[in-house]
Amino acid sequence: MTTLIDTDLLADVQRFGAADVSACFSCGTCTATCPLADNDATFPRRIIRLAQVGLKDELLASKELWTCYHCGLCSDSCPTDADPGEFMAAARRYAIASYDPTRLARVLYTRPIVGSLIAVLVAAFFAVFMYASHGPQDGESLALFEFIPEGLIHWTGIAVMGALALSGIVGVSTMARRVARSEGVTLRTMLGGRAALGATARALWSSLGIESLGQKRYREDCKDDAPAEPFYRRRWLIHALTIWGFLGLFASTLIDWGLALTGIKETGTPIPIWYPSRLLGTIAGISLLYGVTMFAINRVRQVNRAAAVSQASDWLLLILLWITGATGFFIEIALYLPSAPAWGYWVFLFHVAVAMELILLLPFTKLAHTIYRPVALFFYALASDKSKQAT
Ligand code: SF4
Ligand code: SF4
Repeated sequence: MTTLIDTDLLADVQRFGAADVSACFSCGTCTATCPLADNDATFPRRIIRLAQVGLKDELLASKELWTCYHCGLCSDSCPTDADPGEFMAAARRYAIASYDPTRLARVLYTRPIVGSLIAVLVAAFFAVFMYASHGPQDGESLALFEFIPEGLIHWTGIAVMGALALSGIVGVSTMARRVARSEGVTLRTMLGGRAALGATARALWSSLGIESLGQKRYREDCKDDAPAEPFYRRRWLIHALTIWGFLGLFASTLIDWGLALTGIKETGTPIPIWYPSRLLGTIAGISLLYGVTMFAINRVRQVNRAAAVSQASDWLLLILLWITGATGFFIEIALYLPSAPAWGYWVFLFHVAVAMELILLLPFTKLAHTIYRPVALFFYALASDKSKQAT
């Protein structure tokens, strides 16, 4: 097999973040410090080395790129101030852009002004598109789905989900193919026989259940801020609440659609706060808003090494998530007011437009790590299981 060297690789990765690793001399201090290195004597410096020597294919096939939670401990201990934690974050942005055939992710990450303009235009497009079919604004009660027809939101949502699935599948299959080839994993090793199926099931549970939803290693191993930091300000909790909130809002929207499809309840029908889809949406909204607000505060205050450097793409995602959560609560407030406020209709239009944008841009923004990281953790768990069986 021919190994291709990309002499521009390091410079290209550095376009995605601020770290300058040219001073790294592979001393290994970061490996000794990293709580997630396990017994891998090359983590995380191997990623830096791959970029330095131009091994692009190996870099993009590294599951280790995604096993770093950017705690920043390695950066604090680096004797040359090469900031390996930030370099890992930049390499992940580079990987997301490389798995994306549209090159939109590259623009969003490396051209902040153009990226912000695109974000504004996408939201404006959805708002204008839906406003073009708007109905009357009832002044007595907030009739949101008469203002923007429920069917229009429904079908626009399906089109957006279709686009998300298409771009997500292309990116994930590109990444998974590369990682699987580098790890020597084939369909046969995952599905061929009872033992293989058992290992695959365990790896799926570990990557999706224990790590992605349960945040086990983030919680137990990345103790950068414990025990000094109070519980409600721990990084893993802020991260988990953001992810759980986002997924909860997504699930409550799907439940609402499901109830409408099965004829149990029409979307937009007034329902009490304890109704399952509304209760889940409210709890998830609070969770998301808390997580995103704390992330933003930490970035402004630069509370730790990981929050010390912020890219425009970090802020873009936080702003989109915050708007989606906050406008949802403004709508809730408007619904309880005695007469329907005109602003309630405009907030609703804004909320729907930004929520659509968030879903559409998911594979291109930092939120893409919610699909790439579980895949990498799956291969990581599979490899760990294999080495355990061998010993
Ligand atoms: S990034 Fe820093 S700590 Fe890590 S190997 Fe390079 S010089 Fe050493
Ligand atoms: S940022 Fe934290 S998890 Fe990532 S490589 Fe450095 S020490 Fe390890």
